[in-house]
Amino acid sequence: VEKPPYTEIYNILFQNYGSQGWWPINNIYKKRNSLTNEEKFEIIIGAILTQNTAWTNVEKALNELRRNNCLSLKGILETRQETLAMYIKSSGYNNQKAERLKIVAQFLLQHPLEELQNMEIKELRTLLLSVKGIGPETADSIILYAFAKPSFVIDAYTKRIISRIGFCRKDISYDELQTLITNNIEKDTELYNEYHALLVEHAKRYCRIKPECNTCILKDSCEKKL
Ligand code: SF4
Repeated sequence: VEKPPYTEIYNILFQNYGSQGWWPINNIYKKRNSLTNEEKFEIIIGAILTQNTAWTNVEKALNELRRNNCLSLKGILETRQETLAMYIKSSGYNNQKAERLKIVAQFLLQHPLEELQNMEIKELRTLLLSVKGIGPETADSIILYAFAKPSFVIDAYTKRIISRIGFCRKDISYDELQTLITNNIEKDTELYNEYHALLVEHAKRYCRIKPECNTCILKDSCEKKL
């Protein structure tokens, strides 16, 4: 049985869009090999803030936290939830997200970054999923982008593109789609990092809610199951 051409799709996306340099830190996109604890912390906070909102809104919220000396474990622990909510207003659902920042800060107090960094993916994922406000997408984003371990991130864009191409049902579950993709590509952090970021870029450029199929760079591999 021929494997679906996930690698071919990746190559087309990469050739056209180039390296995406995720995860942006301090508003800068660039390739990173080793992250400092401050950078890992910023990614974790960003992963919470980006739930249900666009990244531009998250950047504003991160800048406000930074400007008020709150983009640190100490800063979040020592600042009132209501004040945090004010700083992160641009990210939407800000009261709920302020509560989540508090909960995550407590979690990181009990489980320092060094401890999490040294855990196996499965164990780390289970632990992260036990934290209120961290679902599969947030957990995988943290594992992949903060801890640089290969855990493939699925989001609405991934599901949209892969189902339209014709590789899966529209209503496939998070875990099913993750298994489907990871069974068909090499298990590699760099690849997982770029692949997710490239799919997001593709959903923004062509595979929008109203897709631009006529000019799409993937149209030859796509069944256009709309
Ligand atoms: S051809 Fe259309 S449906 Fe298929 S990936 Fe491109 S934009 Fe999406």
